[in-house]
Amino acid sequence: MKDFHLICTNCGAVYEGETENSKCKICNEPLELEEIRDGKIVQGNILSQSILNRYGEFYPYLQLSDEISIGEGFTSLVYSETLTESCGIGSLYFKNESENPTWSFKDRGTITGVMRAKDLGYKKIGTVSTGNMATSVAAYGAMAGMETVVLVKKEIADEKLKPIAIYNPKLIKVDGDYSKLYDESLKLGNEKGIYFINSDVPFRVEGYKTIAFEICEQLNFNVPDYVIVPTSAGGDIRGIEKGFREFRNAGLIDRIPKMIAVQSSGCSPIYKAFDDGRMEIERFQNPNTIAHAIENPYPPSGNQVLRMLKRNGGIVVSVGDDEILKAQKEMASIGIFGQPASATSLAAVKKLSSQGYLKEDDRVVCIVTASGLKYTAALDKHDLDIIEVKLENLKEVI
Ligand SMILES: [Zn+2]
Repeated sequence: MKDFHLICTNCGAVYEGETENSKCKICNEPLELEEIRDGKIVQGNILSQSILNRYGEFYPYLQLSDEISIGEGFTSLVYSETLTESCGIGSLYFKNESENPTWSFKDRGTITGVMRAKDLGYKKIGTVSTGNMATSVAAYGAMAGMETVVLVKKEIADEKLKPIAIYNPKLIKVDGDYSKLYDESLKLGNEKGIYFINSDVPFRVEGYKTIAFEICEQLNFNVPDYVIVPTSAGGDIRGIEKGFREFRNAGLIDRIPKMIAVQSSGCSPIYKAFDDGRMEIERFQNPNTIAHAIENPYPPSGNQVLRMLKRNGGIVVSVGDDEILKAQKEMASIGIFGQPASATSLAAVKKLSSQGYLKEDDRVVCIVTASGLKYTAALDKHDLDIIEVKLENLKEVI
């Protein structure tokens, strides 16, 4: 296990380990693990390798072990000829993160977070979440045999609550200002010996690098022009971009794709700042969107996403609920059922193509962040054809 530094993404201050609230002590912005310069892919049979076996050289500061793996990563990259044509671009791929053990990309960051907790000697882990991350941390906590505290907001729907509870964490509904829970949980965690793996803490963000690694391998190292990421707290897009940076450092690819963050217009604090030319987000008032999984009115990595996109040349897009639902149905037309938040990526491709931003030879990857089965209430918003018939008349309708 190598020593490492955490570097402030804003002022460049350097730290030997995590700070109390996982942010810079000087400017309160997110910290990032220093870049890996010389990683290599560990060749092997991916049917018997875990992602952390294969990409272990990009995680030299973790005590890697397969003990807590439940098969995260190695998700499909699906090419769609029909959607490529209808969007009028060069090629369109879907990175289907719903194939992860708890049906979302979160598992990649949870496993690296749990490993860090174990390295530090913690016996307890925790998270603050309303859905995907809560399920993921509960599952990995169970696998690792660690006491797991999951804090959710009081209004959480049963459809989301029970799939967390099945893993038997200490599941606590908190009545109060949910936006204060992020900092409060990290503070309490320090007092009570619980390692909180919240949305954009450095060791969670590190896990998302593997999405970029896999995309590179799946495209035979021909980097796509754009990667489109549904964006809430900002951890996912940060991790993916860092993954491309580290593969470029390693000489495995020659450039980094332009990153596109997509938000729902019903909760778009990062988009609003980007659109106004500001480098700091403001709290989004009265959020309301079908894409609950990316409904974060004050994303903790919001400012860093803006800084990263400026350096990367990427942009932020927002799409409305109507566009999201349409895209969800269109994604299903090629066999992929993503939750509404996941469909924002395809909605963004359509918008950017119609605006002439995406061109006819562009190669684009959409990140499908999580499964549609996570939020079946959205199905009520669709016109779905269902035929009912008496058995004796079945012949007539088939
Ligand atoms: Zn700083």
